[in-house]
Amino acid sequence: MQKYNVYIIGGGIAGLSAARYCKKFYPAARVCLFEASNRLGGRCGSYFDKQLNVWLDYSVHAVLKANSEAKKLWGNKVYHSPCFLDFDSGKITGAFKNIPSVGLAMFNTPFDLISKDALKATLFQLFPFWNAGKVFFSQNNLQQTLVSPQFQYVDEIYYNHKLCAIEAKIGKAQKLVFQHRAITLSENDVVICALDNLNACKILDIPKLKHSAIINIHYLTSTEITLPRQLPFVGVVGNTPVQWISVHGNVLSVTISHADICFSDSETLARDVWRDVCKIRGVCAAFVPPHRVFKFPRATLLMDDDNIMLRPHNALSSFKNVFLAGDWTMHYLPCSIETAALSGKRAAKVAMQYLKKK
Ligand SMILES: Cc1cc2nc3c(=O)[nH]c(=O)nc-3n(C[C@H](O)[C@H](O)[C@H](O)COP(=O)(O)OP(=O)(O)OC[C@H]3O[C@@H](n4cnc5c(N)ncnc54)[C@H](O)[C@@H]3O)c2cc1C
Repeated sequence: MQKYNVYIIGGGIAGLSAARYCKKFYPAARVCLFEASNRLGGRCGSYFDKQLNVWLDYSVHAVLKANSEAKKLWGNKVYHSPCFLDFDSGKITGAFKNIPSVGLAMFNTPFDLISKDALKATLFQLFPFWNAGKVFFSQNNLQQTLVSPQFQYVDEIYYNHKLCAIEAKIGKAQKLVFQHRAITLSENDVVICALDNLNACKILDIPKLKHSAIINIHYLTSTEITLPRQLPFVGVVGNTPVQWISVHGNVLSVTISHADICFSDSETLARDVWRDVCKIRGVCAAFVPPHRVFKFPRATLLMDDDNIMLRPHNALSSFKNVFLAGDWTMHYLPCSIETAALSGKRAAKVAMQYLKKK
């Protein structure tokens, strides 16, 4: 049987999902993954914080119960209906009274800027009503629970392999040029480029898209904190940058969406946000516990009409043996674990169809 090499560039969720589906659609394929950094997971990463003596995720992730691809990667979780607190009145309020906040959380884009086409596509594809609203929040170890289980679908992993260029002839990629080595492609090789948009457009002829920031702050509290209704997370609406609070053991995490305006110094931000958290919990803000602030200026795409128009409509690139994956490649869908996983599945499908035609 003919042996095919699948070279996946980028070890985020899109690249890992592509590996999973390449193995499923074509078990004989040799799947090699090249990652620029020294870990897989991309924006879904964790580390052990030696000072705080606790595992932390760089970014807190929420997934909807309706996200079936995310579920395949992550397994079944306990999902809860979110509860929203009004920051100003301190009262619990309903999700449907807070559509702009829910929109901001899902799209990381102010509600009035969100493309109507994106809203429609998301409602039908990612947020079907029979599962509406049930959410799971990551609990400080995306690496172990989400990323590491995917290693089984990859035959070879090459860390610290940053792709710098693709050399091509007559519309077909011939060579992958990494910082310290190059790989010449044979007739039976395909490439799945699963990079984030900024890095992808340094290598391929694709548009550079606008992004929106997210900030996560983790506080290590001295005792386990409980939230209203004993939920592991709550949404917050009103006059505060705090949008989600989630708790896991002694770690309380705050998410600030579309955080482009919050790039003040981290200490001031951590102090101000802790004051708001204490007000929400109805306790007095005596001192700020040990904390970590993670700022992601390019967390997800801005979901406005301009960006939507520029996003790819399929997995094809300008080279016939190179296929695109990545959360930004899925035209109308907001950047998410589900979208990244769907993009990997689509790229694997198209790449395998290309190989079968040969
Ligand atoms: C703070 C934050 C909060 C988020 N919250 C949520 C949430 O609540 N729910 C949700 O579903 N999603 C959330 N997301 C979005 C989600 O994390 C992303 O949509 C998803 O992880 C994107 O995966 P990806 O594989 O497309 O891209 P990435 O994770 O960016 O992966 C790209 C990979 O390519 C590698 N790479 C880059 N350049 C090169 C190169 N030249 N050569 C080789 N490798 C390269 C990178 O190192 C990286 O590993 C959040 C993101 C952030 C940052």
